[in-house]
Amino acid sequence: MSLTRSYRAAIAPNNWSTFCVCLVESLTVSTGRRQVSSPLPVHQQILSSDTIRRFDSSDDKGNNPPRMLSLEEAIERSLAATPKLGGETISLANAEGRFAASDAKAKVSLPAFDNSAMDGYAVRSCDLKSATADSPVGLMCVGVIPAGTFPAGSLESETCMKIYTGSPIPDGTDAVIMQEDCHSIPGDGTTILCNERVKPWENIRLQGEDVREGDAVISKGTRITARTIGLLAASGHDRIEVGRRPRVGLLATGSELTEPPGCLKPGEIYESNRAMLASLAARVNAEPTPYPIVPDSLDNTVAALERAFAENDVVVTSGGVSVGDHDHVKPAIERLGGSVNFWKIAVKPGKPFVLGQVGSKPLFGLPGNPVSALITYLLIVRPALLNMQGAQEWRLTKRPGCLVDELVNRGDRRHFMRVTIDDRGLVQSAGGQRSHMLSSLAKANGLVDLPPKSRWSKGERVEVIPIDQ
Ligand code: AMP
Ligand code: MG
Repeated sequence: MSLTRSYRAAIAPNNWSTFCVCLVESLTVSTGRRQVSSPLPVHQQILSSDTIRRFDSSDDKGNNPPRMLSLEEAIERSLAATPKLGGETISLANAEGRFAASDAKAKVSLPAFDNSAMDGYAVRSCDLKSATADSPVGLMCVGVIPAGTFPAGSLESETCMKIYTGSPIPDGTDAVIMQEDCHSIPGDGTTILCNERVKPWENIRLQGEDVREGDAVISKGTRITARTIGLLAASGHDRIEVGRRPRVGLLATGSELTEPPGCLKPGEIYESNRAMLASLAARVNAEPTPYPIVPDSLDNTVAALERAFAENDVVVTSGGVSVGDHDHVKPAIERLGGSVNFWKIAVKPGKPFVLGQVGSKPLFGLPGNPVSALITYLLIVRPALLNMQGAQEWRLTKRPGCLVDELVNRGDRRHFMRVTIDDRGLVQSAGGQRSHMLSSLAKANGLVDLPPKSRWSKGERVEVIPIDQ
């Protein structure tokens, strides 16, 4: 049983007589489309200790029922409630996507020594001042410098040395002339004719011009990419300290849920949130562990949470956080000696959302509807999982787009609407926007954050949050 919006609004803080009148009325008024009567005598429902606790749970500012938090405040509180997990040192080869736990400094300069940018000849630029194709200058080739060797001695006037890309330049050299600008004289093994002038330091890569020894090559909290792995390896690292992966226990609550592809009894549905959330969490380096489906009872929920907390850094549940008689997540947190930080956020889909804490470990109680679960995960849980790893940046990225269809939000909460955005930035609704509709979620590749009571017309510029991040 749940109260309709108008009845909930009528409940004055701490006004039990108003509350009870509303509750009695609500038991016999419409729930959804159908008129239904309560299966229990009214007094039992009013006096059930569960019911009383559920509606008596004020928030920490004494609001009763708790006010809806803004998304920003919910994120702030989640970040504050998620402890940093500390670091571990891993091989660079496994580090992509992880977050640096400390600054790493270059062990060598890059380039490590002055070297040639071309295959050609190491020369003294002043020797070639008069060189042209019609009147080339001849230099005596006095040596060869293959990559991986270091030239002994210095280059004398009117001599050159054959050199390759990356080979160190000899002392006395201040330029390299490209092989294509030189030729040899048939039958003369030592003279090289140079057809072009070269400027001082032309085709030479100077020691430290890219990175100096001791410079920071990655700073704490930065996401490690294939590109930064290249830089780290070049500057002498084979391992790196990164934030530890959060172990995430995933629980799905609901007596109606069955593991796919099992046989569905009447009234049952396939459980779909754990696999979806595990995939999302793995994207931000978490180690998700799905636990068996939790039937709707307080004892089951307490036992499942206890195990999940013991084995993980953070617990994510789905379902059981609303105001129904079978919603046990919040009471279970309290039974475990934990606390509820907030419940309800002013977004659609996903209003019922619990941030709880047991000991120092956070619990994110997502709504059961799959779309609500995914969107609240992205908006609130993802930042927290990143924060636990010490990530500097946890915000979702956005990309600009242009509406090709209008989007309307008649409600009083901001609505994260499922949209598609194509390569040209054209944005349209991905289909049905109700929170149980998975097909439009699967089709969508973005979300548009539409403010309450707003209508955005065709042609309007919008910011789209790509879903797959
Ligand atoms: P609840 O948040 O428990 O009230 O559930 C809201 C809706 O989401 C109900 O229609 C549930 O059957 C559905 N639901 C809850 N959990 C899951 C799940 N893990 N997989 C699929 N649907 C779910
Ligand atoms: Mg449920």
